[in-house]
Amino acid sequence: MKILDGKLIKGQILEELKGEVDKLTIKPNLVVIQVGDNDASNIYINQKRKMAEYIGYNFSLLRFPLEVSEEEILNEIDKLNNDNSVHAILVQMPLPGHLNAAKIQNAIAVLKDVDGLNDINAGRLFHKKDGLFPCTPLGVMELLKRYNINVSGMNAVVVGRSNLVGKPMATMLTNHDATVTLCHSKTIDLKKHTSMADILVVAVGKAGLITEDMVKEDAIVIDVGINRVNGKLYGDVDFDNVSKKVSYITPVPGGVGQMTVAMLAKNVLSAYKLQMRDK
Ligand code: NAD
Repeated sequence: MKILDGKLIKGQILEELKGEVDKLTIKPNLVVIQVGDNDASNIYINQKRKMAEYIGYNFSLLRFPLEVSEEEILNEIDKLNNDNSVHAILVQMPLPGHLNAAKIQNAIAVLKDVDGLNDINAGRLFHKKDGLFPCTPLGVMELLKRYNINVSGMNAVVVGRSNLVGKPMATMLTNHDATVTLCHSKTIDLKKHTSMADILVVAVGKAGLITEDMVKEDAIVIDVGINRVNGKLYGDVDFDNVSKKVSYITPVPGGVGQMTVAMLAKNVLSAYKLQMRDK
């Protein structure tokens, strides 16, 4: 069994991006919008700030109070969309219930949408065109590429169908010529599907959901899940037992989460380049 080391690959990617950004006179500029002061969000935003500072991006955080109106957020996004010095806009999720997350996400200019979550970018992914795509599935594809794993012709099974991870993951694997099955909460007999997988991607949010008997010998297992149990982080896969049986596996932490940050870094530079190309 080999570990797919997200931390190692992230280091390589950030180094490459830093090398490119060093040569730019105008630096890419990332703006993060935060509503409220959620502890988990603060941690994620600090990771993004550190990443940006390391590479040499400009970074700013606009923090709004929890009770901010949707109109205020939309007005701010409109200003940032029209500001040529801003190349990348990200709204930190989750948002409080009175704000329509999909509407806010869709208000971000297509070429500045570094989370890749607006409808146009989702359509561009579907049509296999250039665009900005969700960082987590993008990170999975990049990790596979860096380990020279070609998914063409493989049976790929994705568990979880969110717009953030599962659906774009299934689309990316399809675009790379895998034969894809997408499982979810209504799937009957999950094990029947997972045990057919040459490559299994799990993005559910349930610790220990995937056990040894559910995976094929020598499969490639990608664990996207992040679950905090008694203060410790676990994926969705029973790592200790499953890892004995498979050819490759991602650890949690140190796997896909690291790649997500690396792909955000990459998307910021991609957004910058797409905007420069359009000028
Ligand atoms: P989500 O809650 O939006 O979606 C979960 C999906 O799992 C749903 O599509 C649901 O149908 C499916 N599901 C639920 N129970 C199931 C079951 N018993 N069998 C099969 N499918 C089932 O979650 P999400 O945003 O896609 O995130 C999934 C997990 O990935 C979470 O643990 C989240 O924290 C983690 N995550 C990690 C990263 C990262 O960078 N590593 C990024 C995003 C999300």
